[in-house]
Amino acid sequence: MAGLTDIAWILDLDGVIWLADEPISGSARAIQLLDAAEHQVLFVTNFSALTRRQAELKLEGCGIEAEGRVVTSAMAAASLVKPGEQVIVCGGEGINEAVKERGATPLDPLQNSVPVRSIDAVIVGFHREFSFDRLAASAHALHNGARLISTNSDPTYPTPHGLLPGNGSLTAAVAVAGKVEPIVAGKPHAPIANLVLERLGLERGTPGNIVVGDLPATDGLLAAELDFDFGLVLSGVTSADQVDTCDPTPNVVAPDLEQMVEAALSSA
Ligand SMILES: [Mg+2]
Repeated sequence: MAGLTDIAWILDLDGVIWLADEPISGSARAIQLLDAAEHQVLFVTNFSALTRRQAELKLEGCGIEAEGRVVTSAMAAASLVKPGEQVIVCGGEGINEAVKERGATPLDPLQNSVPVRSIDAVIVGFHREFSFDRLAASAHALHNGARLISTNSDPTYPTPHGLLPGNGSLTAAVAVAGKVEPIVAGKPHAPIANLVLERLGLERGTPGNIVVGDLPATDGLLAAELDFDFGLVLSGVTSADQVDTCDPTPNVVAPDLEQMVEAALSSA
């Protein structure tokens, strides 16, 4: 039987730890409880714009020890390029950093001086500086044989002012203009699942591990890809009256992370 310390908690950020920029009540205490019980904690997000340190600092600002415990879709996207490759980054700083850490060269689509045939890949991630010229430069590289990698395919994301275009919208524009299909790296797809397993030293289907998130279509399907349990929290985009129709069906549902962790530890 697996011991308590063998349990890994793979935690989504937005809707679980914070909502937009507001910490969700009890999330810091939940992590303290998991740390005290010596469970493994890994934060896994589809948000690709933040660098590793920016993501850690945002968590630390919520009172959560985060160093070395963050996996982003930017890191998953960079895992699909090889050391030495030339990569157009149509996205934020988090992708530039991840591409460099991979030993490849990130290129700005607007300031690229590399011959277009030497470009191996284009990575698209969420950024607000997306423009016609960035789209044109990225598409030109794709017409000349570069691979298209997308950090995540979320079509929109929620804000207090309604839905805004997400990276799926930016990726769709680049894919149509470039006449190629993207490889999507983030949740719920295999590249980020493989990175999570590598970081945790686990294999698919190891019992007792759980993915916690607020969105069945990304967090629930990541759990399915990993063959781990899915814990749905109602502190984000999914409300209590939607639980019965969730696909995939969660193994456990709680109002928030703190209550999910308390219930799990008290039943262990
Ligand atoms: Mg979320």
